Amino acid sequence: MTEAKSRAQPTLHTGQVVAAFGRSYRIELADGTHVECATRGKRSDIACGDRVTFQHSGDNSGVIESILPRSTLLYRSDAHKQKLIAANVTQVIIVIAAVPSFYDDLINRCLAACEHGGIAPLIVLNKDDLPQSAAAWDALAIYRTLGYRVIRICAKQDVTPLTPLLENQTSVLVGQSGMGKSTLINRLIPGALLRVAETSLALDSGKHTTTGARLLHINASSHLIDSPGLQVFGLHHINLEDTAQAFVEFRTRLGQCRFRDCTHRVEPGCAIAQACSEGRIAAARLASYRTLAEEGLRAKARQYD
Ligand code: GDP
Ligand code: ZN
Repeated sequence: MTEAKSRAQPTLHTGQVVAAFGRSYRIELADGTHVECATRGKRSDIACGDRVTFQHSGDNSGVIESILPRSTLLYRSDAHKQKLIAANVTQVIIVIAAVPSFYDDLINRCLAACEHGGIAPLIVLNKDDLPQSAAAWDALAIYRTLGYRVIRICAKQDVTPLTPLLENQTSVLVGQSGMGKSTLINRLIPGALLRVAETSLALDSGKHTTTGARLLHINASSHLIDSPGLQVFGLHHINLEDTAQAFVEFRTRLGQCRFRDCTHRVEPGCAIAQACSEGRIAAARLASYRTLAEEGLRAKARQYD
């Protein structure tokens, strides 16, 4: 096809984003081949896992034209911007360990993001070989009580408790760095991270950074998205009502507060605070909700400054 003709009749191809670094994306086609794509203008609303249409601009390069409808989208946001973590995932795996210590608040934020985004969470306590792990496991009872799946593994030795839960899923791994995500990926897909290191170099044109999400294949129907270590997980995009709904144990009590527009922070006659004082809602959960509510309200106030 001549250049003039291809410009007149651009052919659109479809593929899936398997690596996202800055504004560079690696698209995988159905036959497993890859095309390095840029976006038009400053568009940055594309996530790893997205299915997109693109046009070739060279043999192995192209330009993304559109994003196909997503089944799910996991993202976080702070006062300044939104950060897409992964699209079209069926499950979020929250990786934690006794050492370095994990933050309940981060777990609660991830769980709230999952509830809001309609994605199933799975909490994985890694490094179960450590002596401190028993106490960490006990501390996770709160999440089991809420109905969340919680398992324990030792990524260094044995990940079999996790493998059946990955079958036919597109999972995204989230967690603070140091929890053992890379170790886990190496165990599940030997050699994958070495190949990914090459990918990041190619996509970043020599910049030595590995901050970017990538989608890896466990088998034909099971996929894993690795996202950069998460230390913060802002949820400014979730409004106050939806934030309360994202705490599963609040749901049956919402609407029972004295004030119809109760924010469950300081109001008298709050059914959520009452349930907490009776031990029916864990103090750490209410504290996480309140922090999220404060952050959301501050962000909203700034919009009207
Ligand atoms: P990432 O930052 O989440 O990717 O974490 P890494 O995979 O780099 O692991 C961080 C540290 O934890 C490394 O020193 C690993 O060797 C260690 N680690 C990972 N998994 C285990 C495990 O199951 N048991 C123990 N004891 N250490 C582990
Ligand atoms: Zn209330």
